[in-house]
Amino acid sequence: MEIDSKQFREFGKAAIDILADYFENIRERDVLPSVEPGQLINEMPDEAPEQPEDWRIILKEFNEMILPNTTHWHSPQFHAYYPTGNSYASIIGNLLSDGIGIVGFTWIASPVCTELEVVTMNWLGKLLGLPKEFLNCSSGPGGGIIQGSASEATLVGLLAAKDRMIRKLIKDDPNLDPDDLRNKFVAYTSDQCNSSVEKAGVLGSMRMRLLKSDSFAKLRGETLKKAFEEDISKGLIPCYVVANLGTTGTCAFDPLYELGPVCKKYNVWLHVDAAYAGSAFICPEYRGWLKGIEYVDSFDVNAHKWLLVNFDCSAMWVRDGYDLINAFDVQRIYLDDVKTCQKIPDYRHWQMPLGRRFRSLKLWTVMKTYGAEGIEKLY
Ligand code: PLP
Repeated sequence: MEIDSKQFREFGKAAIDILADYFENIRERDVLPSVEPGQLINEMPDEAPEQPEDWRIILKEFNEMILPNTTHWHSPQFHAYYPTGNSYASIIGNLLSDGIGIVGFTWIASPVCTELEVVTMNWLGKLLGLPKEFLNCSSGPGGGIIQGSASEATLVGLLAAKDRMIRKLIKDDPNLDPDDLRNKFVAYTSDQCNSSVEKAGVLGSMRMRLLKSDSFAKLRGETLKKAFEEDISKGLIPCYVVANLGTTGTCAFDPLYELGPVCKKYNVWLHVDAAYAGSAFICPEYRGWLKGIEYVDSFDVNAHKWLLVNFDCSAMWVRDGYDLINAFDVQRIYLDDVKTCQKIPDYRHWQMPLGRRFRSLKLWTVMKTYGAEGIEKLY
């Protein structure tokens, strides 16, 4: 039994009603379900249903089994981890995106998927007060992309940094062996970094040093410089630095104006992980923490943390999109059917997967529903 469009309307409207009820009454639920690990697996059938089930039964089970066993991240009583964004506008954006169901890896794969992402990332970059060099609408090669997570953004930055460093070193001395160079690369961040930053080193096969932060939990320029010098004296090559603007533990801000000049001197890629707190730059009074942004190569904010957009929507900007294209461009004849340009990106070169969701739709519905003023008022 396949669902037809009439049933889809009923099923969909009933699901929206359930969600509206859920949010209206969420504060009455215990944040954490009282279940033991493995209990739910035991209570669920071992096999997929043999016969089709009516959507009413599915929603009844959603109400009776799924919702009560959820951890309610959007409850006002939820104080764990960090906030995750949500809003009715974002849910609708996601619904519309799922409804269209496209896969937007190249421009022709869905022109509006690419172009709305360019436009909304320009809007958001401007709202956060990022320098124009990061925006696609500037004359330079910078631009924004929506990644699935800050973890991916940090790893994309690391892999692009590796590629850029190899290109530079080989250009200076064509006799160098790229594999030999790769083994010498080192990444740096503070001991306050999110686990995902350390994991990027594991996934990207690069040593990652967690440098000692000061008594305000900040990574200082002097500490970074000393670490670079130590490693260079051992024959290693500093390649990638992740600065934290808003650490997960204490919301500490590393001074970009100290780390930036050190990175610049050694041609090291500087990535900013502002996943948690970066949305606050919507308010001009917080932008003092951006001092030194002119040294930054890539910058990431999780719109899905504190910006009303539900997971997943990690907004990443790079100063030079060609750094990503050079690192990740793999051609196939079936992917190369329309000549685009850096200003109309084939986003498949800017990310790890080939396929990509139409994530900008939820950013668009949120920014249009609230307006800059409405978003600013939340902080
Ligand atoms: N960086 C910081 C500062 C965070 O607070 C988080 C949140 O957990 C992350 C990175 C990881 O974010 P994501 O789950 O989008 O990879």
